[in-house]
Amino acid sequence: MKFEASRAKAINKLNNFVENNLSDYSKLRNFDFGPDKRNNVSCLSPYITHGVINEVEIIKKSLDKYSFSKNEKFIQEVLWRTYWKGWLELRPNVWDDYLIDLKNIREKYKNDTNYQNAINGKTNIDCFNEWVSELKENNYLHNHTRMWFASIWIFTLDLPWQLGAEFFMHHLYDGDAASNTLGWRWVAGVQTQGKHYLASEWNIKKFTKDRFKNIKLNENAPPKISDKTYSIIKQNFINSENIEENSLLIFDNNLSFEFTDFKNKKFKKIYLISNRDRSIKLSEKVMKFKSLLINDQEHRLKEQSIDCEVIDINEIKNIDEKIIGLYPNVGENLDYLNTNNLNLNFLYRKLDQYSWQYCNKGFFNFKNYIPKIIATFS
Ligand SMILES: Cc1cc2nc3c(=O)[nH]c(=O)nc-3n(C[C@H](O)[C@H](O)[C@H](O)COP(=O)(O)OP(=O)(O)OC[C@H]3O[C@@H](n4cnc5c(N)ncnc54)[C@H](O)[C@@H]3O)c2cc1C
Repeated sequence: MKFEASRAKAINKLNNFVENNLSDYSKLRNFDFGPDKRNNVSCLSPYITHGVINEVEIIKKSLDKYSFSKNEKFIQEVLWRTYWKGWLELRPNVWDDYLIDLKNIREKYKNDTNYQNAINGKTNIDCFNEWVSELKENNYLHNHTRMWFASIWIFTLDLPWQLGAEFFMHHLYDGDAASNTLGWRWVAGVQTQGKHYLASEWNIKKFTKDRFKNIKLNENAPPKISDKTYSIIKQNFINSENIEENSLLIFDNNLSFEFTDFKNKKFKKIYLISNRDRSIKLSEKVMKFKSLLINDQEHRLKEQSIDCEVIDINEIKNIDEKIIGLYPNVGENLDYLNTNNLNLNFLYRKLDQYSWQYCNKGFFNFKNYIPKIIATFS
C-alpha cells in the first residue's frame, strides 16, 4: 500500500475508485482482503483528514457516476467523519478529558508487559500481531480491522482504550482527533453508553476470507463503564467579517485552499502551519507525510502567485500583521492556540456550519438529514 503525498495523487485515487470500485462498495466494504487488495474501499482517509480533498467534492464525484440511492452507503460513510467532528465540536470536553486520562494512564502503563507486547506485536493473537506490523508499515488499517483491533485491545488484552487510541494516532496517516477518539470510545461502550463492539472469531474469519482463524478471544466481556456524561456546549461557528485585511493561517486539516469556500478572497498572505508541539507524539513517518502534504499545498499556492510561507506553530506569536485562521477543529492545533492564549477569529467551512447543527444526537438521527445536506451542497 502506498499513500503518495499530493493532491494530484489523491484525485487519481478518487477517480479510479469511483470509476472501478464504487459500484460494489456497499457489498464489499466490510471485507479486509489484506493490505495488497484494498480496491473494495477508497483509501481516501489520509487525504480527507488533511483537507487535501473534501467531502463535498467526493460526494459530487460519486453522484456524477451513480444515483443517490446506489451511492447511499458510501455517502453515509463519508459523512460519518463530518458527524463525528460535529459531535466533538459540541462536546469539546470529551477531547480534553481524554488527554487528561491518557496522561495518567500512560504513566501507569509505561512498564506494563502486556502493553509493551501489544504495541510490539508480540501477543499470542496472530491476527493482532499482523495488524500491528501493518499499521506501522502502511500507516493505515481497514475500518473493520480497526474495530477488531480496538475490541481485542480493550476486551481480550484488557488494556485501556485511551492507550490504544494513542497508538493509532501515533501511526495512522489519517489520525484524526474526532474519528479516532470517538471510534475507540464507541468500541469500548462509553460513546453509546452500555453498547460496545465485541470482535468474534467467526466474524474475523468471514471478513478476512479465512486469512485468520482459530482465534481465541474474550467474546463475552461486558462494556466499559464511564460515569462521565457530556452536555452540549452551544456554539455559533460564525465567520468573521472583513477578512481580506488579514493574513490567513491554514492548519493541517485544510490543505486545499483553492477548493475551500474562501478561495476567491484575497488575503495578504497565507501561512501554512506545521505542528510538532503535540500531546500525542506522531511517528516520524506521519510527520513526514504531513510535511509533504503541506509542501504540496505551498507549491500549488505559489503556482497561483499567492504569497505564502510554511511556519512552525510556535512562530504564530511573532506574526505582527492581523491574522485569521481556517478553523483547525477540536484537536492538537486548537489546543496549542488556546494554551498559548492566541485568540484568533476563525473561518468555518459551510459544510460544517450546516451539518453540525444535526450532531446533537446519534448518527441514526443525523442520517435522516443527509439528503438535505446533499441537496444544499451538491
Ligand atoms: C477505532 C477506530 C479508529 C478510527 N480512527 C480513525 C482516524 O483516526 N481517522 C479517520 O479518518 N478515520 C478513523 N476511523 C474511521 C475509519 O476506520 C476510517 O475512516 C476508514 O477506515 C478509512 O478508510 P477508507 O478511506 O478506505 O474508507 P471508506 O470505506 O472508503 O470510506 C470513505 C470515507 O468515509 C469516511 N469514513 C468511513 N468510515 C468511517 C468511520 N467509521 N468513521 C468516520 N469516517 C469514516 C472516511 O473519511 C473515509 O475515507 C476509525 C475507526 C475506528 C473503528
